[in-house]
Amino acid sequence: MSEQILIDLHTHSLLSDGCLLPAELLRRCEAAGYSGLAITDHVDSSNVAEVLRAISRFCQGMNGKTPVMLVPGVEITHVPPGEIEGMVRFIRSQGKFLIVGHGETPVEPVTPGTNRGFILAGVDILAHPGLISPEETRLAAERGVCLEITARKGHCLGNGHVARQALAHEALLVMDTDTHGPDDLLSPRKVRNTICGAGIEPERIPEFIENSLRLARKYRP
Ligand SMILES: [Zn+2]
Ligand SMILES: [Zn+2]
Repeated sequence: MSEQILIDLHTHSLLSDGCLLPAELLRRCEAAGYSGLAITDHVDSSNVAEVLRAISRFCQGMNGKTPVMLVPGVEITHVPPGEIEGMVRFIRSQGKFLIVGHGETPVEPVTPGTNRGFILAGVDILAHPGLISPEETRLAAERGVCLEITARKGHCLGNGHVARQALAHEALLVMDTDTHGPDDLLSPRKVRNTICGAGIEPERIPEFIENSLRLARKYRP
């Protein structure tokens, strides 16, 4: 039954490179029957303050007006590993925001050391961590950083490796879409195909949903 709960903690709006306004994204998620949604636009030092302000304003404004548990967040993207900790500290100082780290995906030249930097800085979700090492996976498990299985084309090339590492070292897993437009949204079928396609037994799907729900409850306004 809990398999039918739809929750996605990694999506983009017009505040970065998504093609929907936050309101359009939310409305489509309401119509698709979502229980939880985090809007996590890309940030670096050039836009972090503005995006936090805009996402926060939107999520606060919708508080109590939508059945979806709406969570403000950001995805720290291509920030040099040495600057990640400072950025995480800044975001935490600005209020309750879910922090996603744009990990070392196989399809972009993400600086080596980025996965490790995000884990040490204590982000909530390490997105598309690509060929994450056993040491980094153990560290993520110790620190309670969730590793992401992604439905996003390209980034998903690492899913099988990430799943194997996480299961071997008992790291927490979440499944996200990394939605950038209306065609990327979740369905029960997409949840199952993405998780099982990564080589994970369907019996474990409720664990993914539990991990996402716990984060959503922690960061909703
Ligand atoms: Zn990303
Ligand atoms: Zn993303």
